[in-house]
Amino acid sequence: MQSQSQPDAIVIGGGSAGLAFSRRAAQEGADVLLIEKDRLGGTCVNRGCVPKKMMWKIAQTLTSIRSLETEKIVSGAPAVCFKRMQQLRDDRIGGIVESFQDDMKEAGVRRITGEATVHPDLSVSVGDNQWSPARLIIATGARPSGLDIPGAGLMADSNDVFRWTALPESLVVIGAGYIGCEMAAIFNAFGTDVTLVSDTDEILTGFSAGSQAVARDNLDASGVRVLTGVKPREVTRDGDTRIVTLSDGSTLSGTHVLNATGRTPNTDMLRALDPAPETADSGALSINDRFETSVPGLYAIGDAADRLPLTPVATADGETLARQLYTDEMPEPLALDHVATTAFVMPPVGEVGKLSGLEKLHRFSSLEDSIFRTGTTEAWGLVRAEDGGLKGAALVGHAAAESISWAAQVTMTAPSRTGMNRARGVHPSSAEEPLNSNI
Ligand code: FAD
Repeated sequence: MQSQSQPDAIVIGGGSAGLAFSRRAAQEGADVLLIEKDRLGGTCVNRGCVPKKMMWKIAQTLTSIRSLETEKIVSGAPAVCFKRMQQLRDDRIGGIVESFQDDMKEAGVRRITGEATVHPDLSVSVGDNQWSPARLIIATGARPSGLDIPGAGLMADSNDVFRWTALPESLVVIGAGYIGCEMAAIFNAFGTDVTLVSDTDEILTGFSAGSQAVARDNLDASGVRVLTGVKPREVTRDGDTRIVTLSDGSTLSGTHVLNATGRTPNTDMLRALDPAPETADSGALSINDRFETSVPGLYAIGDAADRLPLTPVATADGETLARQLYTDEMPEPLALDHVATTAFVMPPVGEVGKLSGLEKLHRFSSLEDSIFRTGTTEAWGLVRAEDGGLKGAALVGHAAAESISWAAQVTMTAPSRTGMNRARGVHPSSAEEPLNSNI
């Protein structure tokens, strides 16, 4: 082993969290060594939010054009060229990854490409090189969880989806969290025959009951077959067809099966530590408000930490930790109740704030719906504080992803009802619907 010059901080993982920390810490004068085994950008850019949203946008546009074709406003039924879409997506993502490389260089972050191993004394090695940093930052993200059933190897995971070069003819999606629902909606819009399987009675796990009900109706209306209360028992293969046997004895077949049953935090590289750092039930590293794990000198940010596994949280936490460590400020971490989130189904579902008890949303038909008759519904729901101020908001609609972002800062500051009523939204728009109501 060759001992290298000792950095102030080693960051393992060059995804949203690790990049944000490294950039800010280096800008504040820290000597940062960033270790990434794959491409910079991590899950969000290479196999998550970005490629997913690009596919969603194309799928949504395709749905609108198909509707115009039905109305005879345009002619010629459009179809997606999957290979060309994949090329465009990979090309755009390549540009983003290059910009991260430039960013790190400009900020003065040292970089190593390779898989990091952590030793009991918190030194870190990659191949023959070893370092003993003052601080070690774990920003290693999460990976798709496996399913322990016979034939599990016949299923794809969300990483594989972005490597597919041809459109699946038929797809069985196992797991109805937001990733499973999004993939079901996107591939259905592309023209794949899709079945979505949930082991509970609900879909869109983690969202309010009101949003779940509308999203379910919208998936049904779009032509996705949704099965609830059943689990896969086994997957077998017959030529190009995969057969999924379910817990009720029935079978489903598809050219592709996607396992979207959850994600497991990447903490395996810490297995040499004794005692091991404390973890939450999810397997993510437990941390305090200073991102410290139970092991002195070991910090965790992003999906590897017990926070919300979303990019804005990973980025903000990386930035906050750098400011806590290398400036005179002591910023507080994000308030997780006020982080907006969107499931990119069709139309998308956006939520923020405290939504417990939001069982039913107000459904409405927008001007857009009257043009593009897709059969889906838009809806909204607000949860009020005692004084009528806004505690939480749910939006299902074409504008949900854009408008819910603003609602996050409204719920955070909890304005009074009287103050809120003096403001108005844009007309005609879907986002104006909850603003114009007396609820
Ligand atoms: P990651 O981005 O996963 O980065 C971790 C990095 O660590 C990886 O690059 C990995 O290669 C590296 N690494 C791991 N172990 C080692 C090691 N031993 N040595 C060296 N390097 C290592 N979030 C949203 O906010 N909006 C969305 O719309 C959204 N959509 C998503 C869609 C999908 C399909 C998926 C899978 C996720 C989505 N997410 C979304 C979640 C979001 O991508 C993550 O929350 C975010 O990327 C987490 O960032 P991170 O930096 O913690 O981890």
